[in-house]
Amino acid sequence: MPRNPLVVVSNRLPFRVVRGDDGRTKRIRSPGGLVSALTPVLTTRGGVWVGWPGTAHEAGKRGAAARTHRHQGFRIAEVALSAHDIASYYSGFSNRTVWPLLHYFVGRMEVDPAWWPVYDSVNRRFAEKAAEAAPRRALVWVHDYQLLRVPHHLRACAPHLASALFLHVPFPAAEVFRILPWSRDILHGMLSADYLGFHVESYVQNFLASAQLLLGCDVDPARGVVRYDGRDVHVGAHPISIDVAEAEALAGGVSSAWRTTTDAPIEIIAVDRLDYTKGIVRRLAAVEQVLERQPATARRLRFTQVLVPSRERVPDYSQLKREIDEAVGRVNGRLSMDGWSPIRYLARPVPREDLFAMYRQANVALVTPLRDGMNLVAKEYVASQLDDDGVLILSEMAGAAEELQEALVVNPFNRDAVAGAIQRAVTMPAQERRARMSALRARVRAHDVHAWVTEFIDAATLAVKQARSRVSPALDDVISRVGPWLAQRPQIALLLDYDGTVTPIVDRPDAARLSESARLALDAASRTPGIDVAIVSGRGLDDLRQRVGLSHVTYVGNHGFEIEGPAVRFRHEAADHVSTAMNAAADALRELRIKGALVEPKGPTLAFHYRGVPERDREAAVHRARAVLRRKRLRAVQGKLVIEGRPLVDWHKGHAVLWLLGHRYGTDWPTRVRALFVGDDTTDEDVFRSLRGIGRSICVAPFVPSQNAPSDYRLPDPQSVIALVRWLSAGGFRPAPP
Ligand code: UDP
Repeated sequence: MPRNPLVVVSNRLPFRVVRGDDGRTKRIRSPGGLVSALTPVLTTRGGVWVGWPGTAHEAGKRGAAARTHRHQGFRIAEVALSAHDIASYYSGFSNRTVWPLLHYFVGRMEVDPAWWPVYDSVNRRFAEKAAEAAPRRALVWVHDYQLLRVPHHLRACAPHLASALFLHVPFPAAEVFRILPWSRDILHGMLSADYLGFHVESYVQNFLASAQLLLGCDVDPARGVVRYDGRDVHVGAHPISIDVAEAEALAGGVSSAWRTTTDAPIEIIAVDRLDYTKGIVRRLAAVEQVLERQPATARRLRFTQVLVPSRERVPDYSQLKREIDEAVGRVNGRLSMDGWSPIRYLARPVPREDLFAMYRQANVALVTPLRDGMNLVAKEYVASQLDDDGVLILSEMAGAAEELQEALVVNPFNRDAVAGAIQRAVTMPAQERRARMSALRARVRAHDVHAWVTEFIDAATLAVKQARSRVSPALDDVISRVGPWLAQRPQIALLLDYDGTVTPIVDRPDAARLSESARLALDAASRTPGIDVAIVSGRGLDDLRQRVGLSHVTYVGNHGFEIEGPAVRFRHEAADHVSTAMNAAADALRELRIKGALVEPKGPTLAFHYRGVPERDREAAVHRARAVLRRKRLRAVQGKLVIEGRPLVDWHKGHAVLWLLGHRYGTDWPTRVRALFVGDDTTDEDVFRSLRGIGRSICVAPFVPSQNAPSDYRLPDPQSVIALVRWLSAGGFRPAPP
């Protein structure tokens, strides 16, 4: 695989900034496998980590706003967030709207319309920061539910950059996801990436079903492909893992959990971040049930609950903390005796050395979230069982359960089942424990977080390659032939027809809409120094401008009778005195009452569309329409299932294009400018002919025409035209800098 530079975009940077006793700030690396897995990749490939440093930035204060600096061998680009941004984007939309919904906690989802625009605009700022910091040909890897709109904004501001997104939480069933009022915006945001990764196959299938249900996309569930906006977006399952070597090293200094004596204490451990998704109160109830109903084992049990504080700013979490405190107090209050308390409660972060020692010494791990994207505690516990002993009780609602099938898999809502699994774990024969744990450990060891990073980047790189070269070989052919020619001049005039060239041909002309990605590509090209973009169409000028809606583009409307754009405004003199005849002709054509025909007056020209006329009646319809135009002393020009009525003067798109080039660059423009025209219609052949020898032209046609077309090259469809536009704005034809 080519080793392109990597840009990681995540809500938080890989460190915390703390203020020391001396008043100076220092950075403390965030714990966890993801940071340790991505750091060496960023260091060796070169790249940038884009994220929020974790503290509010005071508006108006200089310094923190746009900091870029180095850290452990790679660059850091900070996105500064104000207190208002954090409240709406992070604590609000991310943690109170998206988080509960993606975890199936529909009742906890809060909807505040003021949060969404802030979420979207903060996502845009992350994307802009990534685009600004990204080296050429970088892969931008966006992480998690806080940044689901980043791929969309990235495509808008840097369409040449390849991007991939990984979601670290579940993706729910389509019927649940659609509850989110912005579900479609989120899907558009995600599908703008070239590659999408989820933990497990069921999330992949849920996502595909949502794209189909909510956006009407074609999907291929077997291959994991969504056809979106003319592209194939590949979607894959990549179960995240842990740093196994680190886990084994930390657990290695401690002795084994199981003792041989029958009355030895039995340690059960649970480790969670404070969150309602973790099912902590329900779990305590199951533990209480075992303690009450199994007095023989009860006295040997000690249950340790580690609870790491989290999201204290969100009211649900402080309320939950009180509930857990009370539940622990109640059980210990009821069941403690003779200096023995059944629950050891550590409601604080535990140093990693201590945590892994506790894993190693625990006979049983109780991992019973009500819903969890993956759950790394389950894998950390397994990796710590160096002698292949110990029992994992695992919720079937955790992504980990799709991999760790040899655990005792339980439904966390079923208290009897959880209590039964605890009872079974503490009485399980050593042989069975070893059989299960050795299989679990082998799986976790075989696929650690380093393998996860490599596999994800490889899959994304392959998908990018397929997606971005899918329109070849025609596009590759054009690029290889036109590239050296374009590179010979400092300026490019890119002239594009509209219908059938940048939009697909549709039955009704008013339904021909420019797709969002085509608009973004045209906008980027029109803003690229050294490229001028003009849209050259038979449509009326206002209609055209409204459909394209871009301010840096020049519009050549009505087959060249009207031109408007930056520093240019032109109206052919014939346009002014022909309008009465044109209106009369339009009326006369309507009076023909030809079934299925459509008359479109456009000011200086008109169109008689007969695509809707039954095939057997078309010849007669054309004959009658031509007769009307002749009577009104107008010129009839044949287009694709359309007859154009134009003033009786020698003027067409080809003349208009030459006029525009001369007006803009001077009569000797070919010495300074490369003019490249793309069109599909028979009316575009006038431009092909006008530019022959002084510019070049591309005909959009699904097949190589049987007769020699007057254009220089061919592209199969509008999608490949847009790919060509993207390639132009990415500077693909310029030689790479040394
Ligand atoms: N963890 C921690 N500090 C602690 C206890 C645990 O950082 O005091 C870590 C734990 O080792 C694990 C992570 O927190 O790597 C929890 O990850 P998990 O996937 O289980 O849940 P999440 O918090 O991501 O929902």
